[in-house]
Amino acid sequence: RTVYVNGEYLPETEAKVSIFDRAFLMADGVYEVTSVLDGKLIDFAGHSKRLARSLSELDMRAPCSDEDLLEIHRELVRANDITDGLVYLQVTRGSAGDRDFAFPDPETTEPTLVLFTQSKPGLAESPAAKSGIKVISVDDIRWGRRDIKTVQLLYPSMAKMMAKKAGADDAWMVEDGFVTEGSSNNAYIVKGGRIITRALSTDILHGITRAAVLRFAQEAQMEVEERSFTIAEALEADEAFITSASSFVMPVVELDGSAIGSGTPGPVASRLREIYLEESRKTAI
Ligand code: PMP
Repeated sequence: RTVYVNGEYLPETEAKVSIFDRAFLMADGVYEVTSVLDGKLIDFAGHSKRLARSLSELDMRAPCSDEDLLEIHRELVRANDITDGLVYLQVTRGSAGDRDFAFPDPETTEPTLVLFTQSKPGLAESPAAKSGIKVISVDDIRWGRRDIKTVQLLYPSMAKMMAKKAGADDAWMVEDGFVTEGSSNNAYIVKGGRIITRALSTDILHGITRAAVLRFAQEAQMEVEERSFTIAEALEADEAFITSASSFVMPVVELDGSAIGSGTPGPVASRLREIYLEESRKTAI
């Protein structure tokens, strides 16, 4: 596989980053995952806009222009012959040499930019979309700036492991009685035809897929309510689903061992998945 590191396209075995890099020592880095369908990038503009915001919230320098980023994404998709899959991008603050809690001077410190691809043939035809997935609820004990897409993913990884151990596929995190989001996705319920999902704040990641799905839902005259919901309310819902760049719209059919609605993917989630895939393929670049 060909990967990209700081200006160079290299075989993955030759790619190197310093052990003093602050992402390695302190999780001082941000990332994006953009999906690829039919060799084209889904919502690249949305991802590059969120990346710019993550960088600016952490006083990090942009490693290059959006045009350069697009070119690197495209070159990796081409070099690795990706039809369906994803492109992972990570920007870190780099390093001034020693380990130090204070940020190094941005004028004299080069950010580290790494990109690689993952091939996922048939990504849009995932069998899980037909069967739906099972989730469990776990405490949300993450930090308070979940709107910044940092590489601090230890707790989400632990939540995923708790789900696996319980025979489920993923975890919904709960804070002060309300669902925040999934381990790596935004969470939704549907009741009486209304799509309910937590409002944007620093408590959740502002999903690029969430923004697109809510826009498509409104364009299709579906009702959207942006507010918090509890696990008890989710258990009484007609349907549930998650969204993310790599799962698109994925139905949730079981929560904490109880079926949601009929226990099969619901009509709203299925329709939204169809609309999302169709519309986002149209604007893929
Ligand atoms: N919430 C969290 C915590 C995530 O990690 C992700 C995926 N990175 C999402 C939501 C979904 O965001 P997006 O639709 O931009 O992939």
